[in-house]
Amino acid sequence: MLQLRDIKKNYIIGQLKIKALKGVSLDFRKNEFVAILGQSGSGKTTLMNLIGGLDQYTSGDLLINGKSTKDFLDKDWDNYRNKRIGFIFQSYNLIPHQTVIANVELAMTLSGISSEERKKRAIEVLTEVGLDDQLYKKPNQLSGGQMQRVAIARALVNNPEVLLADEPTGALDTKTSEQIMNLIKKVASDRLVIMVTHNPDLAASYANRVIKMSDGLITDDSNPYDASKDVVFKNQVESIKQIEKQTKKKTRDKTSMSFTTALSLSLKNLFTKKGRTILTAIAGSIGIIGVALILSLSTGMNNYIDKIQRDTLSSNPLTISETAFDLNAAMSALEDIKVFEKFPTQKKVFVEQVISAEDVMKRNDITESYITFLEENLKEEWVLDVTYQTGLTLDIYDVKDVNETKVYSKLQTEAQSGGPFGGGASPWTMLVNDDFINDQYDVIEGRLPKDKSELVLIVDQYNKVSETVLERLGLKEAGDDLEEVDFSTIFDKEYELTLNDQIYVNVDGVFRLKAPQTINFDETLTLKVVGIIRQNEQTDQSVHSTGFGYMKELYNYVQTESMNSEIVSFMKDNPNLNPLTGTAINEATYKTVLRMFGGNDIPNTINIYPSSFEAKENIKETLINYNKENKDSAIYYTDLAELLGNFFQQMVNTVSYVLIAFTSISLVVSSIMIGIITYVSVLERTKEIGILRAIGARKKDITRVFNAETFLIGGLAGFIGVFISYLLSFPINSIVYNLTEVKNISTLSLPSAIVLIVISIGLTVLAGLIPARGASKKDPVLALRTE
Ligand code: ADP
Ligand code: MG
Repeated sequence: MLQLRDIKKNYIIGQLKIKALKGVSLDFRKNEFVAILGQSGSGKTTLMNLIGGLDQYTSGDLLINGKSTKDFLDKDWDNYRNKRIGFIFQSYNLIPHQTVIANVELAMTLSGISSEERKKRAIEVLTEVGLDDQLYKKPNQLSGGQMQRVAIARALVNNPEVLLADEPTGALDTKTSEQIMNLIKKVASDRLVIMVTHNPDLAASYANRVIKMSDGLITDDSNPYDASKDVVFKNQVESIKQIEKQTKKKTRDKTSMSFTTALSLSLKNLFTKKGRTILTAIAGSIGIIGVALILSLSTGMNNYIDKIQRDTLSSNPLTISETAFDLNAAMSALEDIKVFEKFPTQKKVFVEQVISAEDVMKRNDITESYITFLEENLKEEWVLDVTYQTGLTLDIYDVKDVNETKVYSKLQTEAQSGGPFGGGASPWTMLVNDDFINDQYDVIEGRLPKDKSELVLIVDQYNKVSETVLERLGLKEAGDDLEEVDFSTIFDKEYELTLNDQIYVNVDGVFRLKAPQTINFDETLTLKVVGIIRQNEQTDQSVHSTGFGYMKELYNYVQTESMNSEIVSFMKDNPNLNPLTGTAINEATYKTVLRMFGGNDIPNTINIYPSSFEAKENIKETLINYNKENKDSAIYYTDLAELLGNFFQQMVNTVSYVLIAFTSISLVVSSIMIGIITYVSVLERTKEIGILRAIGARKKDITRVFNAETFLIGGLAGFIGVFISYLLSFPINSIVYNLTEVKNISTLSLPSAIVLIVISIGLTVLAGLIPARGASKKDPVLALRTE
């Protein structure tokens, strides 16, 4: 079935041209046992490789079933080797890290046979060669004869039409040689076997045709054959052509290796070199460790900076009030100031300009449409909360049980001003929303309020509240030596919230505050303490000062009720009278007093709590946009944290640039490392590449095997990297905590860990791509010749 027509093969080494075959013409029968004899270097191996499609002839033609192979493509040769040819070599060429059965199965995995079928057939042929009891041994646990049997089983498993054996007994003793020859003879009973040997006795006693070669030429043929004169053969060729035409598509099927086969091949290879594989992966993981550490540090840093941002911003919100400090105006006023020369010589006194309050303070006329604008344009993600206040004063009475009767006294609820030690914030605070509270406070007793009648006590990190605040809350008598107050005492406490009409009475055009005994406290709203909150460990500056916190609902309730109260109606009717004295007042005082009684429901103070410095910039832009569209009624904000913000933004940017630079370097280093490792592995596995190619693997399959290997190493490296970084984060965190009290500076999240492993695999495969390609381009003949 095989016909060689004037085959010539030249090897070019540099300038030198070696003529290994100088024109060989031979026809082989469909079924015969041919022995090729010849001295070393006469071209026997070259001839075998050409017949087996491992190597390509320089000129001439090889006909397979009467068909020329002149325009065979790579994939046709691959298919030919896999389906029609079985190879046996002198040096067995088994894959050392695969078991006997796996070595035999390999050829079948390339032809896409199911794993059950593969196993069944592998066991069948191994039984035929007498190795059914050695299935799971590795090649190096076998004798030479046994290894050659495995090679024969591998060659036979795809049931090839042609078996090519290159000095199969060259490395075996006489007795074993005879056993192997008998086996080959049996195989030759129903196919073409071409065997190279330099043992004329073996050739004579086993083969039925002996061909002698010398210096690249055939010198003798004991049983020549001319296919063109063989009628039977001609008919066979015709019928094969007929069949091939009908089943053209089916015979066109290609050999191919699945990625799972490639993976298992590489996995087993890596397993035989456990120590080296682990070292390799550790080396490769160094880059990943770098990246992981940097990533976790930057996550930790960002969390920390975020927290600081929120803290800073919560104690320094953007404020819009009736009078605003205009930083821009102040800056330009400062710029306008003349710069003086130090130690002047002129006989003159220079006049220093002073920035006046009018230059830098702006009056804001907040309107309903401005509030609507804010509600519509401030995005939810920009703000932690926005609070509106109208300037009203809450009227709250302290309730005490004295001898079973209730004694009421009015508390001072507004902020204290002046005094040698400065004033104090109001001990009564309007609470921000629950999420914001929970970010900065722990509820250490009870719960957060759910209703306008419910209060929480806000204490500092030491559970402290200043004595002045406690006095103003009615929890301590002035002059008392009180050291502590039990939570239960606070929870037992009751207050009464009163509305204008409940405590003010109009007596001949002047409003008088009723005496507590004459107030009907059954009608008033009773306030109860439901919880105690304390600034949490992560918070440095919190939004509220110590004292009682109430819900926005309470404020809004009082505001709404006040609008319809008698005293407010009176004031609106008499805009120049002080309702408490009946005397005349100016406009500014009137406005303030009206607000105190809740007579103006348009806010005069708006606090905007930005969620980050970046969000704050967006908010400011929005506020400035309003002013651009409403030039006549521009509203100015005050931003006390302005300078801080710039500093933080710069710090965050610098830190991330530095981190990105480090990350890139680590990645490059680890990629190069993996590239080198894969390259070394290619060198090491050259022989295996040759074997795989001999049994029909495509170039692509070789690439795949190495990609699979880098895939595994990359995965392992990624895993080790992430694991070591995780372990390292403990000492790093504890050192940083000891130095700076910053907690969990290094935090690696699960998603970033997964992403890192994926990156490690990706980079490793990428770095191994070039060596893997190189491997696939290796000449199979040369690959097989390497030891
Ligand atoms: P044999 O198998 O009969 O000992 P070979 O077929 O291996 O002989 O070699 C035939 C000739 O071709 C020898 O001179 C050998 O050096 C040369 N040869 C074989 N393979 C190559 C190669 N890949 N490159 C260069 N020369 C080669
Ligand atoms: Mg040889």
